[in-house]
Formats: sequence, C-alpha cells, structure tokens
Amino acid sequence: MMKPRVLLVNPPVYDFTAYDFWLKPYGLLEIGGFLRGRAEMKLFDYLDRTRMPETARSTDKWGRGKFFSEEINKPTVFFDIKRRYHRFGLKRELFRKFLAGNGPFDFALVQTVMTYWYPGVKEAIDDIRQISPKTRIILGGVYATLCPSHAESLGADLVIKGIDLSSLCKLIGIEFDTKQPAFWQGYWQLETGVLRLSDGCPFVCTYCSVPMVYQKFTPRLQDKYFQEFELLKSKGVRNIAFYDDALLYQPDKSIVPFLNHITQTGNDINLHTPNALNVRFISPELAKLMVKSNVKTFYLGFESMSAEWQTKTGGKVNREDLANAVNNLFSAGTEPENIFAYIIVGHPDDDIQQVKESMEFAHGLGIKIMLSEYSPVPGTPDGEKCRKFVDFDEPLTHNKTAFAIRTLGEEKIQHLKSFCKELNGKK
Ligand code: SF4
Repeated sequence: MMKPRVLLVNPPVYDFTAYDFWLKPYGLLEIGGFLRGRAEMKLFDYLDRTRMPETARSTDKWGRGKFFSEEINKPTVFFDIKRRYHRFGLKRELFRKFLAGNGPFDFALVQTVMTYWYPGVKEAIDDIRQISPKTRIILGGVYATLCPSHAESLGADLVIKGIDLSSLCKLIGIEFDTKQPAFWQGYWQLETGVLRLSDGCPFVCTYCSVPMVYQKFTPRLQDKYFQEFELLKSKGVRNIAFYDDALLYQPDKSIVPFLNHITQTGNDINLHTPNALNVRFISPELAKLMVKSNVKTFYLGFESMSAEWQTKTGGKVNREDLANAVNNLFSAGTEPENIFAYIIVGHPDDDIQQVKESMEFAHGLGIKIMLSEYSPVPGTPDGEKCRKFVDFDEPLTHNKTAFAIRTLGEEKIQHLKSFCKELNGKK
C-alpha cells in the first residue's frame, strides 16, 4: 500500500519583532514522529535559520539569533503603533518552488503558535491551495486551540483544538505510534533542538494559556525523551532548550532521572530553560544537579514582587521564593549573567504590580531582568478583562507589542525598557 505523502509546515511570522530564542515547531515535529515509517514526510520550516542568508545568521554562544526579515506594510489595525512591521522567515518564493518541486502532497500539517501570527499561517495555506489544490490542510497548535472559529476562516480542511489528535488520525487514516521521538530528521542541518519531559502545569495562573491547552500535568515516558536526546546528539546539536511548562514539578519523575542519565554518559550539550522555571522548586540539590548537568541559562518566572498581584493571579511564587532560588543557583556555581527573572509588562492589573520595584528587587539579588510584554489570551480571566482594549474576533489585537503600547503608552514602555537596560548594565 502506498504511504500518504505528508508535508509539515512551520509558517513565517508577521510581527513587529521576532527573535530565534530556540524556536522550533515542536508539536509539529512530534506529530511527524508519530507518523515515522507510516507516511512519506517532508518538512518546510520557514524559521530554519540554517537556511537563511549568511548576513541574517549571526548566532550567539547559545545558538540564538536573528531571523531573516523583510519590512512590510502594517495591517490597518496597527495604525496607531509607531513601529515597523516585518515578515520573518524564508522567502515566500522558496516555499512555492518547494511545493512545485516536491508536491503533490496528500496532507499538509501546519503549525500555529501566537494568535496574532495568523497572517503567516494564511500565507502558507494560500500557497498550498494554489500550487497543490488537492492537498488536505490541517491546522493545530495554540492559535488553532484558542481561536478555533477564526482559524477555521483561513481555509483549512481541519482545525484541531487542543491536544486530542483523534480527528487527525481519522482523516489521515493512520494509527499514530506515540512512542516515537520527534521528526528531527526533517532538518538537513540542526544546530539547536528542544525537548519536553512533561506536558501541562499544575498551576492555573490567570494570564497564562497553558491551562487552556492542557487539562493537567503529566510526566512523559522516560524512554522516549532519552531516545530523543540521543537523536538530537546524533544530529550534532550543541544547544537544547526545554519546552516544558513545569519542568521542575515532581522532579523525581522527570528532570532528576533525565539529568542523572545524561551526566552518566558525559553530556556536553548546553541546556536552557526559556519557559520560565518555577523558582519554588529550585532546591539546593536540584540547583547543583542542573549546574553539573550543563544547564547553562536559567529563566525564572517572577512577574512581580507584589504579594497582592501574585496572589490575585494564581500565587505561583513570591519574592522569598525568588531570593532562595537565586541563592541556591549561586551556591551551585551559576554565573549571575546566566540567570534572568521574567517580569510582565502591560498586564491589566499593572496598577498593583509594582513593575519598577520588581525590577529593582530582582536586580538587587544580582541577576538580570527580562521584560515580557503581556499578550491577552482569550478565555483566560485576565484576557477577558482586556475586552475593552482588544477585539477578540481580530487576533492581531492580541499582539504583545501593540497591546503594551496601547495600555501603558509609548512613553511608559520606553521608560521601563530603558530602566531595565540600565539595571542590566549595572554590576
Ligand atoms: S506556573 Fe507558569 S506555566 Fe503554569 S500556569 Fe502559571 S504561568 Fe502558566
């Protein structure tokens, strides 16, 4: 029997800013893994920097860097935002040529991420429809889950909401082999990879999309991520980022056995934690193990020092938790320049958040600060508070840059950014 021909697509990004902070279309690659040996697959990742022009490829020591981009006209909804708007990713002609040369495909699976990145998804769908009209197109991921009606309007044949893949299995007519590692073979060259040891998070923060996607926290099968780590090693990656939302929760079920396993075999790959670690779980022992296992960068979810704000939004941490975690990381030998505290800006409860004081507090502990602009997530308690600022029927209005400017004003945003820069520059 002929195997179905499946195309995996990670679309380009339309936004004011975008940066390759270890970005990989992991959900899409995982589905590719489930289909391993059962379908003939090709991957087209518009955000694959190894294929971008040399001039756009400067990479920092941890494998991150800028994407190739082209300035484009802003959508009219951003008429008041005085920033340049870009399309990030490989040129459109490359995908069109790829489709013409490699098609036709039976199915195209298209990854979606931020809700306000849908123009890139639409571009990919339009090109597939034009060049390979018989291909059945399937959308999945965060935008498809949070804005299903809008996603359906883009012209796909199937929109998958959440993590239940039964409708996809039925459409493709193949039973998935979920024990397989992700489809990293789709890349001809790979410098960075990502890994997940668990799904979901036990907390329910009022601003976060994770509880909207996963109903509960579930550790993954150890054999699977051990196998996937070996696969990434064999592809020559030098940096791996964990994509877990609660990497340190129930450590004895995932992170501890994983780190023990890789240190036993002499791990020399740099590990990173871009998805905000919960500082409450960074014990002295876990800090030591992480440092010994080559975890190089620590991104800590702090958001605010205000006890009132933290309690109101879910109480995931408090300032004492941050201070203890930083102390444990320092004692384990982490360099201060590799520890970052995330602080949200533009949140609807900005009035009680004490953003500047929170920055000063984190700086006082001797670590760096990263401001993360808030993007309203439809269906979350905090997102719903923002209806007066955003039209949830138009996902472009969720854009984090535009939203922060509209709620706080350009002057305040600039002031906070300068203050952050100044603190990060100070010893
Ligand atoms: S702890 Fe982090 S991942 Fe979990 S709900 Fe809160 S913000 Fe989201």
